Amino acid sequence: MTYLAKLFSLEGRTALVTGARTGLGRAVAAALAGAGADVVLVGHGGDFSQVTEEVQAHGRSAYVAEIDLAEPGQVAGKAAEILAGHQIDVLVNNAGIIRRADAVDHSLEDWRAVLSVNLDSVFELTRTVGASMVRRGSGKIITIASLLSFQGGIRVAAYTASKHAVAGLTKTLANEWAASNVQVNAIAPGYFATDNTAALRDDARRSQEILGRIPSGRWGSPDDLAGAAVFLASSASDYVTGHVLAVDGGWLAR
Ligand code: NAP
Repeated sequence: MTYLAKLFSLEGRTALVTGARTGLGRAVAAALAGAGADVVLVGHGGDFSQVTEEVQAHGRSAYVAEIDLAEPGQVAGKAAEILAGHQIDVLVNNAGIIRRADAVDHSLEDWRAVLSVNLDSVFELTRTVGASMVRRGSGKIITIASLLSFQGGIRVAAYTASKHAVAGLTKTLANEWAASNVQVNAIAPGYFATDNTAALRDDARRSQEILGRIPSGRWGSPDDLAGAAVFLASSASDYVTGHVLAVDGGWLAR
């Protein structure tokens, strides 16, 4: 293996990716498998056959595990069950939901739903899996943040609050676990064509506004996250921690 291939190789490692059935999580799971990792695919039901086949096409093993991240109280127990069968070397907190409404109409129910999946469960899963990494003295944690970890957004109060919080959590855990050789970083995707942004892309005016502001001149495709994910999961990033890496076609630079 060349020096460069070794630097980015995930051979012999196992990654856990939440929300791996669709969108960005599916692409990240496939990318990590392409770099050599076996993958535990976490979701809350549904059909995992497409992502399973993509992982297996790279000659890697895929294991499907169910955790309902809308129930933060159940996350630590379910994660412990996974850890009993797998050493998790790379954790990708990708699952997330969004509820769009003007702030005056944003119900507390929607607020709690978004915070439960996007923040509370991220904390529960990360501290449970992170504890095993700290004990072992190695690990990589990647959380999927957002441009709304930096900006306010429109009609997405709970989502923006959750993604700002995720950036803060990334930094505090990075500080705490750096000495244990556990790196904690986030990826902030720009506007990607997935279910999460379907409502925006269906709105011709909003879609044009967004596209017109992206310096690269196109929506992100899920595979655009592959390089950043493999970098942050591999030894290539061993001295990178507490960073929020924007993959946004230049949006934040504008
Ligand atoms: P997506 O296709 O809707 O993916 C979200 C994933 O989370 C789905 O696989 C979903 O599973 C899973 N999920 C939702 N609720 C869950 C629960 N209670 N328990 C377990 N899994 C659950 O959208 P995406 O764009 O790929 O989103 C992935 C991440 O990227 C999210 O954190 C999102 O906030 C972030 N992000 C996306 C963009 C973008 O432009 N697309 C930009 C910035 C950040 P089911 O489909 O089975 O419900």
